[in-house]
Amino acid sequence: MEEWLMDDRLVATHLGDTYENYLGAVVPPVFLNSLHVFPSVEDYYNADRLQEGTYIYGRSGNPTVHLVERKIAALEHGVRALCFASGMAAASTAVLAVCKAGSHVICVRNAYGPLKEFLSNYCVPQLGMEVSYVSGEDVGEFEEQMRPNTRLIILESPSSIVFSLQDIRAVAQLARSRGVRTYIDNSYCSPVFQKPLELGVDLVMHTMSKYLGGHSDIIGGVLVSRDEELMCKISADIREWLGGILGPMEGWLVLRGLRTLHVRMAQHQQNAQAVAEFLERHPLVKRVHYPGLQSHPQHELMMRQQSGNSGLLSFELDLPAEKVAASVNQEVFRIFKVGVSWGGFESLVTMPFYKLSPQQAEQLGTTPGIVRIHCGLEGAEHQIEDLNRFLEHLSR
Ligand SMILES: *Cc1c(COP(=O)(O)O)cnc(C)c1O
Repeated sequence: MEEWLMDDRLVATHLGDTYENYLGAVVPPVFLNSLHVFPSVEDYYNADRLQEGTYIYGRSGNPTVHLVERKIAALEHGVRALCFASGMAAASTAVLAVCKAGSHVICVRNAYGPLKEFLSNYCVPQLGMEVSYVSGEDVGEFEEQMRPNTRLIILESPSSIVFSLQDIRAVAQLARSRGVRTYIDNSYCSPVFQKPLELGVDLVMHTMSKYLGGHSDIIGGVLVSRDEELMCKISADIREWLGGILGPMEGWLVLRGLRTLHVRMAQHQQNAQAVAEFLERHPLVKRVHYPGLQSHPQHELMMRQQSGNSGLLSFELDLPAEKVAASVNQEVFRIFKVGVSWGGFESLVTMPFYKLSPQQAEQLGTTPGIVRIHCGLEGAEHQIEDLNRFLEHLSR
């Protein structure tokens, strides 16, 4: 990569802006094509499909999607990235690339729900795989669960509902010493606030539907690694077979999102920190889950491995879940919209565990009444005003 692109902000704004290739256009165009043509059959067969930047057919590669991959690989300080049609396509492809029938996986209990369902309800019954779930708060737990057939450790730090962390460097070191691969969902921090490849992780995954896209207008995912061989295998075989590559239009929208990634992340963090501190002071709020708070039980670990926190947080109230749910509606909230997902410009509120039993929620470290909010870009004063209205409504 060019020397002047060593600063992540320059990568996010300018990598791939080769004006001379695109008639001086300040934004590279979207390549809306399904195939590339060759001068002769000889040339077609000579194309090296293992080589990054070889374009043959749209299911194996596309110039716009490739530009996203180069940009995200550089932002994560990896060597190669591969884009997928969703975060789940990236996640399930990673599991299938690393594991085989009979493999054992260790996964953190607070990992993304659909990924746990894929492991427990597909990989176990259909592929005879084994899965152990751990809290992930202590490296010793991973060590205890290791078996001769352990192939993969799945991390998510911080997790996206109760914001529990894992000591990434320590887990990666343990795994490496046992020949086990590590995978982490880095969607919460984005590459701006955490670089897991630097800490020794093998595969980093992002849902691009969240902060990387940033505008709530696409579904997409990505895997990044420093292991060229593994990425070649995923690119030239597994992604092609499973067929889950990102579409070019989505890729182009991610490129647009990435240009403002650093300013958006700084603003999400500033808003969420102010909101978390407001909630923590409120008498009706029992507990706030935000790694940026000094009161977070793993705040010190956060300071060691992250350089910031994003706009997502959750809190628990001293009230029954039903009473809380009755106030989470659009008559009470004006800025926060009721909906899943996060990472866009807009503020959101949801109760992700409302349908769980108290015992199920307790296993995940919380209660069914937990409220998760995403602090969008509207401004902390508006978000606090909205939450104040909600808490006043609840105290009536
Ligand atoms: C949304 C989400 C995913 C899944 O991404 P999709 O693009 O929706 O498939 C994975 N991990 C986390 C933490 C998420 O929030």
